[in-house]
Amino acid sequence: MRYLSTRGEAPRLNFCDAMLAGLARDGGLYVPERLTTLAPAAIRVLAGLPYAEAATRLVAPFVGEDFAPDELSAPARDAYSGFRHAATAPLTQIDANLFLLELFHGPTLAFKDFAMQWLGRALNRALERGDRRATILGATSGDTGAAAIEAFGGQPRTDVFILFPHGRVSDVQRKQMTTVDKANVHAIAIKGSFDDCQAIVKALFGDLAFRDELGLSGVNSINWARILAQIVYYFTSAVTLGAPDRRVSFAVPTGNFGDVLAGYYAKSMGLPVSRLTIATNENDILARTLATGVYKPLGVKATQSPSMDIQISSNFERLLFDAYGRDASVVRALMGALKQAGEFSIAPPALAAMRRDFDAERTDEKACADEMARVYRDSGVVIEPHSAVGVHAARAALRRDPETPVIALATAHPAKFPEAVESAIGRRPELPPHLAEIQSRRERCAILPNDPAAVAKFVRERARVAA
Ligand SMILES: *Cc1c(COP(=O)(O)O)cnc(C)c1O
Repeated sequence: MRYLSTRGEAPRLNFCDAMLAGLARDGGLYVPERLTTLAPAAIRVLAGLPYAEAATRLVAPFVGEDFAPDELSAPARDAYSGFRHAATAPLTQIDANLFLLELFHGPTLAFKDFAMQWLGRALNRALERGDRRATILGATSGDTGAAAIEAFGGQPRTDVFILFPHGRVSDVQRKQMTTVDKANVHAIAIKGSFDDCQAIVKALFGDLAFRDELGLSGVNSINWARILAQIVYYFTSAVTLGAPDRRVSFAVPTGNFGDVLAGYYAKSMGLPVSRLTIATNENDILARTLATGVYKPLGVKATQSPSMDIQISSNFERLLFDAYGRDASVVRALMGALKQAGEFSIAPPALAAMRRDFDAERTDEKACADEMARVYRDSGVVIEPHSAVGVHAARAALRRDPETPVIALATAHPAKFPEAVESAIGRRPELPPHLAEIQSRRERCAILPNDPAAVAKFVRERARVAA
């Protein structure tokens, strides 16, 4: 299987190289040359398989000849063995035809662990094969950084540098990044915002000489391997509810458009998905885009669901690519317009193509709090704000089509957002024991100015790839 860039001006790569690159050299995102489709019988056999086994079967066609079969099954078993629920991704019913897919039983309590735990092992395997090292560089508003540090900490062939905005992540999120006592982990607080952190990372990836010298790898959700790993739970949950012999819909709390895009690929692979509902908080760029056809970032607003406080949904570029019949020149033009004019318009046929699969639903702050309270009152289940945005959107989907079951993705554990949960339901969720203990651990963190040159110097001095 080979991968091509959505902007059409980067070399085609095999799976390992696309995974190691993260972002394509022309600024585009890697997508598979073609999607594998599964016959109903191949979907049916997933029922009842251990999660790691289902994952191995589903990712295999995308990895192609890059990994032998046993090189795939060991990382998957290893990746999901650290999850604290025997079912890995359990489904809970909370209302008629409304189900919660619990994706927060991994080591850092957010769904990011599903992809990152697997990526960490697959990437290490690829480096071993080539006898190479890599420097992982990423920016985070919270959950991605913790998941990346958990996945790569202590791995022999990588050094991981995570930038986060100084003073602007939650206490739990910061400690998850700063208390990991591994020599290859570097948490860096930048005196600036999340957007500043992301701009520094983009600047360093854009410096191709620096990128090559350090062997930079990107692990944010634009990395194809992360999307691929997320396809798995769409299949396992749908099969639990009777797929391929029964259709299901999904409602997905959305920020960078990675998670819901994995659902779109699952559908493209033959999973009978009726609707994919993009659930946004008040940062509703995708809901506005689907309604009007104009993609226009506005200012970011801080909400109770901070991991979705995003105005540039990077992975949307992959959907645009498909909606325009995989025409990279159109994607290049639209991304150019975004840069020049701060917006672009989607042509009616492409917009219609998107609407065939997707709905979008915006949830404001009050509705989010009301939803946490309602779910607790009706079913005794405690959910946090990101998941509540998903459930709220799922109810809208059920009003449009009451017959098709809707699976709402629960993307974080309530204990990660204790204040918001407590103010909605009057009860404070407890941290699981393994996280409670980090509260008293010593923190280790560099504080750097908002300056790419300062970060480049810091990375160059510590990354062992340069040695
Ligand atoms: C990252 C994140 C999201 C958004 O996922 P995307 O793939 O960026 O759309 C939603 N909820 C939580 C808890 C997250 O950490």
